[in-house]
Amino acid sequence: MQPGLPTETRPLRGDERQREVAQRRVEELRDVINAHDYRYYVLDSPEVTDAEYDALMRELRQLEAEFPELILPESPTQRVGGRPTELFAPVQHRLPMRSLDNAFSDEELAAWAARVERRLGARTDCVCELKIDGLAVSLTYEDGALVRAATRGDGLVGEDITANVRTMRSVPMRLRGKGLPRVLEVRGEIYLPVKAFERLNAELTGRGERPFANPRNGAAGSIRQKDPAVTASRPLRLWCYALGFAEGVTVSRHSEALDFLKHLGLPVNPELKRVRTLKEAQDFCAYWQAHRHDVDYEIDGAVVKVDALEQQRELGETSRAPRWAIAFKFPPEERTTLVKSISVNTGRTGKVTPFAVLEPVRVSGATVTYATLHNEEEVRRRDVREGDTVIVRRAGEVIPEVVGPVLSKRPPDARPWRFPKKCPACGTKLVREEGEADWRCPNRVGCPSQAIEWLFHFASRGAMDIEHLGYVTGMQLLEQGLVKDPADIFFLTAEQLGQLPNTGEKSVGNLLSAIESARHRPLWRLLVGLNIRHVGPFAARLLTQRFPSMDALRQLSLDELQSVQGIGPRIAQSLHTWLQQPENTRLLDKLRRGGVQLQDEAPATEPSATGPLSGKAVVITGELETLSREEATQAAEAAGARVTSSVSKSTAFVVVGARPGTKYDKAQALGIETVDEQEFLRRLGRSRPLH
Ligand code: NAD
Repeated sequence: MQPGLPTETRPLRGDERQREVAQRRVEELRDVINAHDYRYYVLDSPEVTDAEYDALMRELRQLEAEFPELILPESPTQRVGGRPTELFAPVQHRLPMRSLDNAFSDEELAAWAARVERRLGARTDCVCELKIDGLAVSLTYEDGALVRAATRGDGLVGEDITANVRTMRSVPMRLRGKGLPRVLEVRGEIYLPVKAFERLNAELTGRGERPFANPRNGAAGSIRQKDPAVTASRPLRLWCYALGFAEGVTVSRHSEALDFLKHLGLPVNPELKRVRTLKEAQDFCAYWQAHRHDVDYEIDGAVVKVDALEQQRELGETSRAPRWAIAFKFPPEERTTLVKSISVNTGRTGKVTPFAVLEPVRVSGATVTYATLHNEEEVRRRDVREGDTVIVRRAGEVIPEVVGPVLSKRPPDARPWRFPKKCPACGTKLVREEGEADWRCPNRVGCPSQAIEWLFHFASRGAMDIEHLGYVTGMQLLEQGLVKDPADIFFLTAEQLGQLPNTGEKSVGNLLSAIESARHRPLWRLLVGLNIRHVGPFAARLLTQRFPSMDALRQLSLDELQSVQGIGPRIAQSLHTWLQQPENTRLLDKLRRGGVQLQDEAPATEPSATGPLSGKAVVITGELETLSREEATQAAEAAGARVTSSVSKSTAFVVVGARPGTKYDKAQALGIETVDEQEFLRRLGRSRPLH
């Protein structure tokens, strides 16, 4: 039986072709979702709205429900998002920290309630709470003293953030009362109040640094500081919403547990309600949807939880989320405002994006002045014109977007908007390749807009992470002609930097030492910073794990690049072309001369030329017993094999675990050898499991 799937959703094995199409889409969705997860949870820099992300997840879930044989244990639907970053030490949670399943409508909430009562065979009381949009934290108290704070991470292992959480005044260092439990773990959400978030963003923008997309990102970014003094300067707050591992605490209801936490001096959100009927729960959700801005923190929904702990235990949990709770997610908030004008902006890859300049309006707790219009086709489709009153939303509170005009309010003289023919920054004629939605400025070297955007991207947290090199400094460096491309940064001297406006000795020193650190960043960060189309952090990591030096990457053929698991033809083609272009060879040489490390010092696993599987292409399918998919891949690679994602005639053998996918069928059809895990371990030269 597939985990978590009711038998009635299982289809009869149908049309093979349909399944193949589904499989391809499932694989594509997994790659895309993984990439978004990485940006969201690790980099705190999401690229799509939550609503778009949720739509991708739903599509994947639906396909997996239809074709259960396509479910893999590593599918994003099977696990809690997020993975520990490099920065903080890993912490194993005593009890897993799970996510929540979502309901997007009253009907979905009702369906959840019906499922719960059916499974229990009894009716149940629930507690409704606000869903605070922040960062999950686990706090461990021993004999009443705070000893550890950890993030959720992947649910099993989080990262140690004790030093930073200790700076938060809303987190008690000691619990109140006598006879405290030996060990008590509490779960809650760290958040940044909306006003504090706005102040912080104004400060960051003033310093030429990139503002946070929303309070959630602000909270996550503030907690993930290397220097606790920076965290201390951010007014972070905490709401506790659950008891985790607790020795010798006897409560029988979730609501009692919350009272107990309050009694210990922990902050528990007062806006909670015990309900006896579905209608009451729906009313709670509807009320807070309409009043979400009555509180000074962002909420993105309400959470309904079964109150009796005995019933919670009976219902149990999936690997991703408890069955006894559901998050009712509010729909994206929409507001109307006036379009003052429409302009375009040339980004770091030369892509020209139209945007509307708006009469400032508050949406989802923040003031919006600009909203993206995506591309020419979208402006035409939505027919947004200057002078229009439009509907604006910030679905995932990332980049606000214009949904469309309110036609009844259109002024009679409003004219359709025309896309400019020339780049607004350098005057170069714009080009649009066939099949592409975007216009581009082809002046890669000379366009000032591309230059600043690239420089800013290169220095950003998600790429080379050069602190103190923000927009303002970047602009000055470009304007003074001290820098033309990011490689020039590594030749800057203290004298040159001293000539920039408003720079003292201290800031010059800070910048130079940040630049020095950037010379030794992992190769994937450099790859991201180089601004190669389609090569984001996820792809960059996959590539550099396999090939940890720039020289090695440059020697690869297109086929070899594509053979890296997770690297599709689009990424491979784009990187291959980039690496072959003479101006990029010059750029890489300049970086090398500037002292930038073009290889990783300690690669995770070095493909072995002499290992027992040297030169063999291996495919892995299904769940292995002792190895995770990643471990199996690493072990095979360390033994010299190439692990590929699809079976072809050149595949040496296929490792088959439980519930294999279509790769197994394909191996059978092509007559490729299949081996079980034991045989695989034997071929690796190990007679016993790795651990
Ligand atoms: P989630 O935010 O939907 O819900 C689970 C979390 O809610 C818990 O872990 C907890 O931290 C929090 N929470 C707040 N109040 C709570 C309460 N009263 N009781 C219990 N928990 C409470 O789930 P998630 O796994 O953190 O994130 C998944 C969501 O994040 C997706 O649905 C999507 O909207 C978004 N996301 C977006 C992107 C993107 O690129 N835009 C990428 C990944 C995830």
